[in-house]
Amino acid sequence: MRVRAALLSALFLACGESAPPPRPPLVVPTTQASNAPIPPPPEARADGRLPPLAKPLRYAIHLDVDPRKDTFSGKVEIMVDLPEETAHVVLNVRGENIRRATVRIGDSTLPLTVTTRPSHGALEPDELVLSAARMVPKGRVALVIEYDAPFGKTLSGLYRATDANESYAFTQFEASDARRAFPCFDEPGFKTPFDVELTVPSDMLAFSNAGEASHAVSGGMTTFTFAPTAPLPTYLVAFAVGRFDILTAPGTTPPIRFITTHGRSALAKTSLDTATAVLPLLAKYFGIAYPYAKLDLVAVPDFGAGGMENAGFITFRDDAVLLDEHASARQKHGMVGLMTHELAHQWFGDLVTMKWWNDLWLNEGFATWATYKIVDEYKPSFGAKVDAAASAESIMDQDGLGSARAIRQPVASVGQAMEAFDGITYQKGAAILRMIERYAGADAFQKGVHAYLRDHAWGNATADDLLAAIDASAGTHDATRIATTYLDKPGVPLVVIDSVDCASGKSIAAHVHQERFGPLGKSFPPEPTDPWNVPFCFESAARGAKPECKLLLEATTLTASGTCPAFANPDAAGYYRVAWPESSIPPLMKKLDAADDTTKIAIIADAWAQTRAGKLNGRVLLADVLPAIDRETERHVIERLVSILYELSELVDDATWPAFSTYVRARLGPHLAQIPAGTVDDEQRLLRRTLTYAEVDLGEDAALLKKLDGVAKAFQSAASATLDPDYGQVALELAARSGDPKELQRAVETAATPQAHAIALRAAAGVVEPAAVRTQLDWALSPAVKLQDVRGIMWPLVSRHRSRAVALAYVRDHWDALRQKLPGALGRGLVSMAGFACTQPALDDSRAFYTAKAKTIEGADRPLAQALESASLCVALRDHLLPEMKASLRSSGAGGPARR
Ligand SMILES: [Zn+2]
Repeated sequence: MRVRAALLSALFLACGESAPPPRPPLVVPTTQASNAPIPPPPEARADGRLPPLAKPLRYAIHLDVDPRKDTFSGKVEIMVDLPEETAHVVLNVRGENIRRATVRIGDSTLPLTVTTRPSHGALEPDELVLSAARMVPKGRVALVIEYDAPFGKTLSGLYRATDANESYAFTQFEASDARRAFPCFDEPGFKTPFDVELTVPSDMLAFSNAGEASHAVSGGMTTFTFAPTAPLPTYLVAFAVGRFDILTAPGTTPPIRFITTHGRSALAKTSLDTATAVLPLLAKYFGIAYPYAKLDLVAVPDFGAGGMENAGFITFRDDAVLLDEHASARQKHGMVGLMTHELAHQWFGDLVTMKWWNDLWLNEGFATWATYKIVDEYKPSFGAKVDAAASAESIMDQDGLGSARAIRQPVASVGQAMEAFDGITYQKGAAILRMIERYAGADAFQKGVHAYLRDHAWGNATADDLLAAIDASAGTHDATRIATTYLDKPGVPLVVIDSVDCASGKSIAAHVHQERFGPLGKSFPPEPTDPWNVPFCFESAARGAKPECKLLLEATTLTASGTCPAFANPDAAGYYRVAWPESSIPPLMKKLDAADDTTKIAIIADAWAQTRAGKLNGRVLLADVLPAIDRETERHVIERLVSILYELSELVDDATWPAFSTYVRARLGPHLAQIPAGTVDDEQRLLRRTLTYAEVDLGEDAALLKKLDGVAKAFQSAASATLDPDYGQVALELAARSGDPKELQRAVETAATPQAHAIALRAAAGVVEPAAVRTQLDWALSPAVKLQDVRGIMWPLVSRHRSRAVALAYVRDHWDALRQKLPGALGRGLVSMAGFACTQPALDDSRAFYTAKAKTIEGADRPLAQALESASLCVALRDHLLPEMKASLRSSGAGGPARR
C-alpha cells in the first residue's frame, strides 16, 4: 500500500495532480445502541436504487477461487457509515448462499438475519436485507458476510472459461453483476477503496486492479494479497485466476503488461505496443497522467463484450487482441479502436465516474468520441475522422424510430441499466460531443475537459458538470444550450431547406425550418414549442468556400457567399438531417467531388434518409445518388453507398432481383477491376473486402465466386503468408457457401490461435444450403461452441438473405434449447431477430412470438420494441419504394441471373 502511494505521488508530482484521497481505516469506533422499537425494513424502491440506510466506505474481500471447481466461497467485510440508527441495511446480492452475516460495532458483534428480494423490475432476487435484533447506532460499523456461490453461467459475475483444456476464472461486473461475486452496494455513485485477497491453487496465479502486495503458500494453495485500490465503483473491480503467461512492455511508466492464457503471450505483442503508444497520447489530451499504479491488459478466452475498462485491469475478448503478423487490416483497425476506447475510460469513467446509469453516455459517448480523436492522431491513415462522421450518420437511422430513447433518461432497474448500452449511448453520445467540440472550438473544449477531470478526480460527476466546464472555458453557454435540447429527448432534427435563391450570382440565400425527422410509416407532430438548438451550417460547393453557421431554433434565412449549389452540414459535424428540395439533389450530386469526405457522407446519408421518408423518388436515388460510387475513390464514402445497396436489397422481390443484381455489378465491378492484384495498402484491402462480398452477395457475380474458391484454397495453404489476409478471409467466407459444414466446424475447433479461430468461425457461418444451416445451428447450441461465439454463428446466418428463412425458423423451433445455451441476459439479443420481417404477415407473426419471449428476459423490452418498429418501417418503405425501383431498373434495361 505504501509502495503504491509513493509511486502514485511521484507520478502526479510530474503533472501537478493530487494523489487519491486518504482511505478510511477498517477500524470501527465504539458507539451506543438505542432501545428504540424495531421498524420493518423499507420496501424495494421504485427508482431501482438502494435505500439510503448505509454508505459504503471501504471493502475487504477475501475469495477462495479454484476454477476447476463449480463453486467459490468468500468473506466480505464492508465498512459502512450509518447516517441514522437502523436495524436494517439493504445491499445487493445475486445467487450467493449467505452462510453467516454479522455487524461489528466497536468491540461487539451482533448476528444479522438475512432475507433476499428482487429490486424494482428484477426477475430474480438481487437485494439482501440484513436485519439486527436491535437498533444499531449511527456511525461507522462493519458488515461481515460469509458465503459461497456458483460460478456465473452468463459470462458475468465471477465465471469460468476454458482454453486448451485449462480452467480459468474471470470477472465481468458492468453494469450490475459485481453483486454475483460478492455482496455489495452495487451502484456507480459509491466509490471506495477495495482490499482484495484471493486464495487459489498454487499452480495458478491471481491478478486484480491493484498490484500484488504479497503472497503466501499453504497446503497447496497460494493467497495473493493486493494493494488497496484507488476509490472505485463496484462495476470496475476485477480479478482473474489461472495458469497465465505475462508479456511485459519494457521500461514504461506505469508498468504495462499483457496477461494471456497459457502459451499465448507472444500473440499479445502488437496490442501491447499499441497500448504503450496510445496511453501517452491520452494522458497528453486529458492533461493528467494515467491515474493508476499499473496497467494490466488481459486476454479472456470467453468474453461477452469486446473489452471492459476495469481500472488498471482491462479485459478483452482474446480474438480481438491476440493478433499475429498475418492479421487482416480489419482486425488491426478493430484492435486499435478497442484498445483506445478502453484506455480512454481509465480517465473518463474510472477516474471520474457517472453518478448513476442515466448518465452512462458520459462514459461511453466520451470514450467513443475520444477513440476517433486519438486514433486519428496515432494512425492518420485509418481515416478515423471519416469513421466518426459515418457512425453519426448511421445512428441517426436508429434515432429516427418512434421507440428511440433519449441519451439521458431515467434508469430504474437492472434491465434498464442494461438497455442503456446501445448505439444511442455510444454513437449519438459521441456525435453530440463532436458537435459541441466543433461549436465551442477544440481548445475550449479540451480545457473544459481538463477542468472537469481535475475537479471531479476520484469521484463522480454528471453531464451538467462537463457542460458547465466547457462553457466556462469557452466563455459562452452554447455547450449547455445545445446539449440540453439533445440529451433529454429522442429523435433527429430535420433541417428543411424550403427554398434556395441563387439569383444574385454572388451569394446563396436559403430559407430553412426544422422538424423532427420521421421515416415513412412514422410521422411526428411538428414541435414548434420544443425545437432543437441546431448548430446549422451551409456553404457554397465552390472550392474554398467558408461555411455560414447559426444556432437554429426557428425558421430563418441564411446567406452564404458563393454560387449554387450549396452543401449543408459541412464535415457532417452537426447531428441533424438536411432535406433539400428533390430538384436540388441531381446538381448537388454532380458537385460531390468538391466536398470533403465527411461532407460527402452527410450528403449521401441525407439523400437516403429523404428516400426513406418518401420525399425523394427511388428513381433519383438509383439514377443520381448511388452512381456516385462510379466516380468515388474514398473507402468510407463507397462503403456508405454500398450499405444503402444492402438496405435496398431487403426490399427487392424475386422478380426484381436480377435487375437489381445487374445494377449492383455495374456499380461495383469496375472498382474491383481497378484494385491491383499485388501489394495494396490497408485502405485498398478494406475496400476490396467490402466490394468483393457485395459483388458476389448482391451482384451474383458467378465468375468472381468461382475465382474466390481458388483464393480461399491458397489462403488456407502455406502460400497464405503472401496473400492479402482481408481478401483471403472474404474468399473463405464466400467459398464456404458450398463447403462441408462439418469440415468448417473442424477448422474452428482445431484453430491454433484465437485469430485463426475467429476467421474460421466467420467461414463456418457462411453456409447457405438449408441442411448445412441447420447443422451449423445445432453445433452452435452444442457444448463445442463457446458462449462468446454463439452470436458469431447465428447472427450471420440470420442476417444473410440466403440463409435467413431457415435460420429464423430454427430459432423458433429451438427456442428452449437456445435459452438453455444463452440463459439470462445472454439471450437478450435474440429478440432483435423480430426486426428481420419486411412483410405485414411476417411482422404480425414475429410480434406474437417475440413479445411473449421478451417478457422472460431482463433488458429485452426496448430492443424488441425497436426491432418491431424497424420491421414495420421496412414494410412501409417496401410498399412505397419497390414500385419506384422497379420502374427505374426497368428503364435502365437491367437484367441478370436469378437469386440463388
Ligand atoms: Zn466503453
